[in-house]
Amino acid sequence: MFTPLNWLLGLFSLDIGIDLGTANTLVNVRGRGIVINEPSWVAIEKRSRKALAIGAEARQMVGRTPANIIAIRPLRDGVISDFEITQAMLEYFIGKAHEQSLVPLPRPRVVVGIPSGVTEVEKRAVYDATISAGAREAFLIEEPMAAAIGAGLPITESHGSMVVDIGGGTTEVAIFSLGGIVISRSIRVAGDEMDEDVIQYMRTKYNLLIGERMAERAKLEAGSAYPLPEERRITMRGRNLITGLPEAVDVSSIELREALSSSVQIILDAIKDALDETPPELISDLMESGICMAGGGSLLAGLQERVSEEVNMRVWLADDPMTCVARGAGRVLEDYDNLRAMLVGLERGSTRH
Ligand code: ADP
Ligand code: MG
Repeated sequence: MFTPLNWLLGLFSLDIGIDLGTANTLVNVRGRGIVINEPSWVAIEKRSRKALAIGAEARQMVGRTPANIIAIRPLRDGVISDFEITQAMLEYFIGKAHEQSLVPLPRPRVVVGIPSGVTEVEKRAVYDATISAGAREAFLIEEPMAAAIGAGLPITESHGSMVVDIGGGTTEVAIFSLGGIVISRSIRVAGDEMDEDVIQYMRTKYNLLIGERMAERAKLEAGSAYPLPEERRITMRGRNLITGLPEAVDVSSIELREALSSSVQIILDAIKDALDETPPELISDLMESGICMAGGGSLLAGLQERVSEEVNMRVWLADDPMTCVARGAGRVLEDYDNLRAMLVGLERGSTRH
């Protein structure tokens, strides 16, 4: 949050909140706000496994790399598939945030958002990676918790609140009360799976092979989860699987909605499932306060209407839904005394440093 006090404190110390997302990594620096917002991609040299490019530059290389270079997303499914590469990425982003400060600063204190439901080993991996990446102190927070704080939900009160954070690799559903997560669901169906749905649909219906980026673009421009006021059309370019030749096919937003429906349904089921287990007192709170949606996937056209209709509750989009986690993680350091209980503890003895 930008306040004169934070700005002043930011001159003398570096407090950083990081959203280590499956699709995008955001870095929030106290007093300066979001200073980095880049895709969670790393391009590595195959043999040495050395990182050649990180972030936007690495993403540019996707699908265009020569044989000796591969571009990967180390957190693709919400798990850390490669510790060293995740560490390289964190190091790069923390270093970049550090570099941007005007005066020499001590090493930063860092809060990192991690998907809920990651294993103890993975938590430890993120913690270690953050320390190795140059943090003086590292803390972890579950992403839905950070999203709720970033969205300004009153999670420390006894009145219940609910967040649905739809990212690239994971969807997190969480219900909060008294500063804790009462019920949560974490599934590996989110924005990426929707892109995959579009690819499958084009392949099955039109024998057209399209790339991930084309699929994502179609989702952003014409995808939806609820009938649109005005249906749209989009041209998909790819390769015809039978002739082997380039081809352009026009599809309607109605077709895309059909393509996306299975992923949307899985997300809806996760939400219903969480509500199903919620104690009645909390349900009555939630009926008042509604469901807060965050993450890039929540921007899918008509998704709010669809969720609202299915669960018969008010659904609203957080302010700036793609930065909630980074803002929430940063907030914890600003208000450490009140919010430190929201951090994830590491098991004793699980720290190597
Ligand atoms: P993560 O936290 O996992 O890094 P983000 O919250 O950054 O993920 O969201 C990334 C996902 O959101 C991607 O799958 C992207 O395609 C999707 N997305 C972004 N904008 C939109 C939009 N307008 N409509 C549908 N999906 C969107
Ligand atoms: Mg996220």
